[in-house]
Amino acid sequence: MFTVGLLAEAACAIGCLIIVITWIRDRSTRSYSWWILGFLLSGLGVVLAAQRQALPYLTALGVPGFFALFGAGALWSGLRVFDKRALPRLTLLPPSIWALGLPFVYQSFALRQMHFNLAIGTATLLIGLDLWRSSSRGLSPRLCIALICLFETVVSYSQAIALFAMRDEVGQGPVRGWLTFAPFQSAVAMVAIVVLGILMIGERSERRLRDLAMNDQLTGILNRRGFFEASAAQLARLSGKSHEVAIALFDIDFFKAINDNYGHPAGDKVIAEFAERAARTIRRGDILGRIGGEEFALLLPDTTINEARLIVDRVRAAFAEAAILHDDVEIMATASAGISVGQVQQGAVLDRLMSTADSALYAAKKAGRNRTSILHMVTQADRGTAAIVRGSP
Ligand code: GH3
Ligand code: MG
Ligand code: MG
Repeated sequence: MFTVGLLAEAACAIGCLIIVITWIRDRSTRSYSWWILGFLLSGLGVVLAAQRQALPYLTALGVPGFFALFGAGALWSGLRVFDKRALPRLTLLPPSIWALGLPFVYQSFALRQMHFNLAIGTATLLIGLDLWRSSSRGLSPRLCIALICLFETVVSYSQAIALFAMRDEVGQGPVRGWLTFAPFQSAVAMVAIVVLGILMIGERSERRLRDLAMNDQLTGILNRRGFFEASAAQLARLSGKSHEVAIALFDIDFFKAINDNYGHPAGDKVIAEFAERAARTIRRGDILGRIGGEEFALLLPDTTINEARLIVDRVRAAFAEAAILHDDVEIMATASAGISVGQVQQGAVLDRLMSTADSALYAAKKAGRNRTSILHMVTQADRGTAAIVRGSP
């Protein structure tokens, strides 16, 4: 039992140390404070449980159990804060179960153990289900933690049943073996959860860095790199099927004049307004990115030439009707667009769709701006097709 206690203590201490180090480097979330509290309480619970011969009155009051159960609640609360969700409402359920049953079990070691197993099993069940629900598809550290918690629930509940059935034989045979094995595997599970927890924190930092690399700071939409990666992935998903796909390129008209007349910050505001209105106008599944100063690209999967024209003109109209307020001055602007449409099955690859859309955009600018032009790109031979230029209403 001493070795088992030591292992559990080591797990809590390692958990605490790692959380403190991570917290020093990243102060962006309060979840670390909850986790430190959780590990400290759980660790104290183990220490007090180990001292039950010396401190029998604490054991009789169920104090070690309360530490362990409140510790689990604090770890759970930390997970909720980590996810920017509300604190769990059921954290007090396991300590309440423990408190309510104590008067009936405190005299018998076996019944006390059984009752604690019921309470801690309920805690791991609640945490496990919550983590399971909040984990995305695929095997992630979060899902592994959920599975370990649910496994711990099975162990705790079955141990409770075994203890109740054989309460008169504690200290002998299978019950004794069970009593030694169960805490040992709980300590191993604790170490595994600490390691997986570190992976989970690392995974999120990686995702944050990736978001920074893929998103445009001014507008919040994808940047050039993000747009190309997301679009290439979308086209790869559509390949092999007979899908029509469209790409639209937008460029704000006479933008240099906006910068010159109202200043660079005003120009930034116009760019941000375009992104916001376009993002609000497009459909789910369409991919929008800022690929240059005042240039935007839009990938429209599964879209016919007519649908593409409708969506693009809706985006342009939403932008054209915006009165952008800067230093009490209203700025109005328009945008031109070039669309290219192709069949994914016939090899409409991103680079070719983009360069065809660029030719179409050039044609729209040349024809007077504030309009959309379309180039249908199916085969190599179509490259020479003249743009169908359409003015805006
Ligand atoms: P056109 O109608 O032919 O598109 O004319 P234009 O004046 O818009 O010409 P162009 O598209 O070449 O203008 C791009 C300008 O955008 C040049 C550059 O100074 C400005 N620009 C590029 N990035 C930013 C930015 O992040 N913020 C601001 N305010 N201006 C930018
Ligand atoms: Mg431009
Ligand atoms: Mg421009």
